Amino acid sequence: MHQTYDYLIIGGGMAADTAAHGIRERDAEGTIGILGEEPTAPFPRPALSKKLWTDADFTEDDAALSTHDETGATIHLGTRATGIDREAKVVTTDGDDTFGYGRLLLATGGHPTTIDGLDAGDRVIYFRTLTDYHRLRELTSDGAHVAVVGGGYIGSELAAALVQNGCRVTLLHPDDVLGAPVFPASIATHLEKAFTDAGVEVRGGSTVSGGTSTADGVTLQLEDGSSLDADVVVVGLGIRPAGDLAGAAGLRRSDDGGIVVDEHLTTDDPDVLATGDVAEYPDRILGRRRVEHVDNANEMGAAAGRILAGSDETYDHTPYYYSVLFDDWYEAIGTLDASLETVEDHGDDGKAVVYYLDGGKVVGVLLWLVEDAKDAAREVIASGTGSPSGTIPV
Ligand SMILES: Cc1cc2nc3c(=O)[nH]c(=O)nc-3n(C[C@H](O)[C@H](O)[C@H](O)COP(=O)(O)OP(=O)(O)OC[C@H]3O[C@@H](n4cnc5c(N)ncnc54)[C@H](O)[C@@H]3O)c2cc1C
Repeated sequence: MHQTYDYLIIGGGMAADTAAHGIRERDAEGTIGILGEEPTAPFPRPALSKKLWTDADFTEDDAALSTHDETGATIHLGTRATGIDREAKVVTTDGDDTFGYGRLLLATGGHPTTIDGLDAGDRVIYFRTLTDYHRLRELTSDGAHVAVVGGGYIGSELAAALVQNGCRVTLLHPDDVLGAPVFPASIATHLEKAFTDAGVEVRGGSTVSGGTSTADGVTLQLEDGSSLDADVVVVGLGIRPAGDLAGAAGLRRSDDGGIVVDEHLTTDDPDVLATGDVAEYPDRILGRRRVEHVDNANEMGAAAGRILAGSDETYDHTPYYYSVLFDDWYEAIGTLDASLETVEDHGDDGKAVVYYLDGGKVVGVLLWLVEDAKDAAREVIASGTGSPSGTIPV
């Protein structure tokens, strides 16, 4: 089969959804095709580790995006793009179908980081997709001992979700205290206590080096020579950006494997753009970076769609990310690296604003239980203020 679309999007994630909406802001008629290797339509991933577990009234239907209904895009599910002929403007796929395009958007996101020696399998889930969520639900329906590998926001959220759903949870992470690479000690200590109070066994200083699965469970090997038996293992260690297809097509890649774009989200080829988790772009305030967060996928996706459809705008939004863990939540803008100098302002009821300084300038802001302060945080970073304490009310 060969089909041609005015706008072809490779990748069926959140950025593809917002890109299709962005196209429709400027072009009501142009045909849009989306090639997605997953068997399911674009779905908001944050729900997979939060509300679908923690809010009994919140369903998959509540979360679902309506990409096709709202934009008319044709979504080709279970279709992996395998090659791009930029001269002929044709994309080949694993099903031997070909797709022509007027303009092309790469929204390929990333694939979960894996551990050598620990294969994905019936009881080992590298967690990212709706299919992974279904599988984890099935395996944990009547309680189970789950080993969660990774102390970043996805691992932490999954551990919190699972313990609140009757599972016995062991959370393995390599640091002294949960969240220590990102949060100052006051907040990391508070966070770890919330997990242990909820019944999660938090095992810091643990690096998984491999594992073996049977029909009934998994035995994990740890670098210190110890092992851990669990019914299920779920891994959340971030992603490897899916830039291979772009690289094979001769487009420039970033050092970490993403796709390099300019301020118009355009690659070296004027008819090929990239957006979302995979795109390394020049942030107006923070400089060149790749961001693996939903606010970026939404805003950059929409901007890419409008640009595909003729807008000459630049992508000027500086994204934030958020997480929800038990009764705590936070928002973060810029670089959160606990090895930097930090300035902490603490308020009532556990609220805090933390400024991260590099060379005397603010490069990141953590808003812990503090509402409506993202723009103020962006301003502090943009102004490069040297002594920020008190700038944002706590
Ligand atoms: C469980 C979970 C919870 C999250 N929670 C938060 C949160 O609370 N806050 C936050 O800020 N961010 C969160 N994120 C991150 C956020 O969801 C991502 O930043 C966002 O989904 C990225 O969207 P994307 O479309 O760029 O990439 P992806 O979501 O990775 O989508 C890319 C799609 O492209 C497909 N693809 C790749 N290559 C090909 C190919 N060759 N052919 C066809 N298809 C291809 C992939 O299979 C994938 O479906 C979370 C992520 C996960 C996994």
